[in-house]
Amino acid sequence: MKTINQFRIAIFHKSSKRTYYAYNEGQKSLLTRIRETCVKQGLTPLFLNSDERIKKELKKFNITKIKKLFLIDNTEVFISKKKPVLMIIKTGRGVGLDTIHIVFLYKKEANIKRILVSLRKIKKIGKVKEGTYAEATQREDFNNNLKTKSANGKLIEDKKLKEIFTYLLNKDNRKIISEISSICKLGPKSKEEILSSIKNFTLKDLGEILHNKKFFIKIYRIKCCECNRILFSMNFSSRKQGERALSNSSFRCLMRGCPSKKSKSRKAEIIEVFSLTKEALMIRSGVWLEKLVDDELRRVTSDTWPCRFHNNDELDNIFIFREKFVLVECKDTSFGQNDLYNIVMKARNLAVNHIIIVTTKKIHKNVLTRIKIFNEDEEENINIVVISGMESEIRRKLEIFFQRANKQYLDNLLEFDTDRRLFRRRAFHHRKRL
Ligand SMILES: [Zn+2]
Repeated sequence: MKTINQFRIAIFHKSSKRTYYAYNEGQKSLLTRIRETCVKQGLTPLFLNSDERIKKELKKFNITKIKKLFLIDNTEVFISKKKPVLMIIKTGRGVGLDTIHIVFLYKKEANIKRILVSLRKIKKIGKVKEGTYAEATQREDFNNNLKTKSANGKLIEDKKLKEIFTYLLNKDNRKIISEISSICKLGPKSKEEILSSIKNFTLKDLGEILHNKKFFIKIYRIKCCECNRILFSMNFSSRKQGERALSNSSFRCLMRGCPSKKSKSRKAEIIEVFSLTKEALMIRSGVWLEKLVDDELRRVTSDTWPCRFHNNDELDNIFIFREKFVLVECKDTSFGQNDLYNIVMKARNLAVNHIIIVTTKKIHKNVLTRIKIFNEDEEENINIVVISGMESEIRRKLEIFFQRANKQYLDNLLEFDTDRRLFRRRAFHHRKRL
């Protein structure tokens, strides 16, 4: 599937009462200036009598599904032939539409940069923000209400943990860390003990992560050279500290059956032992998935709020993309009926209609049936998308979601649905002419 590049700006006027305010005053002259700028930049306006032409131009940008094409009433279309850019200016009345909303469709980013620079030079343009009016107001709401990060959120946004996340985004590596965590359950272990318990794992592999302080806590303990066992009663933070303790007192191994009790030799040495950090354990046991999703979201939108609290609800992610406000639930364990009701409740508390469930496990068919019922019930007004699989599959399915949302957005953009009154009048004239 080929994606269309687009860049959108909504022009707002900043007022002291509301953060974003429709740009009403002097809108006409502003529009005139925008038009003039377009023409200067080699963009040609397309008029009402060239619906067919507009359709033809839109086709070049993969937009074919145009239901009603009464564009000019509140939409203007500009094209440039040489460097394919299609610019749609929408001005509107009604809910959140008292804005000038410009959408660029383009094949090369360089082609629109030049146009943007000249648009931003227009004096009357108050605030140029990427996104639509609806998105901007929702963004403000989310910024105000989703300030508290959960423990997972703090990990995700901690730049120092980047290396652990990168390592644990790999399934095989997660398995290794999981094995190490079960080996170290009863206390820290030496390098040799860890290595001997994991198959297909080399000293080189271990060396790479073992000395990373974000992964492992390293302490020093006494090892009896007779029975080779480690005494867990004493911990030292450095080798020197341990050696000093050994030289200050004569060592006695208290392990059952230790030959040192019979023989006179009481040799001992200081060795390094390792245990996983709290962060590494948390990331392995699920936070990696939230990070993976957030990374993918950031490729297409900067409006993402990972792992936040909304009142008492813990949210895995909320993001805005093409006028869709989406709540995400990530599950590295199985997703059940209760989880479904919980996420729907959270979405309702936020007045969000779109939900994406990301899970590494298969979802039970009863839960899938319930999701289908939610999706088909118009009164529920909720749309749930399930994405299941491992890393690469999750990434691929998310990409498909974005492509579809993008296409849908572009299709809707061209529909005449913003002013019913005008639409009826046109339809009437049209009938009369027939
Ligand atoms: Zn011993």
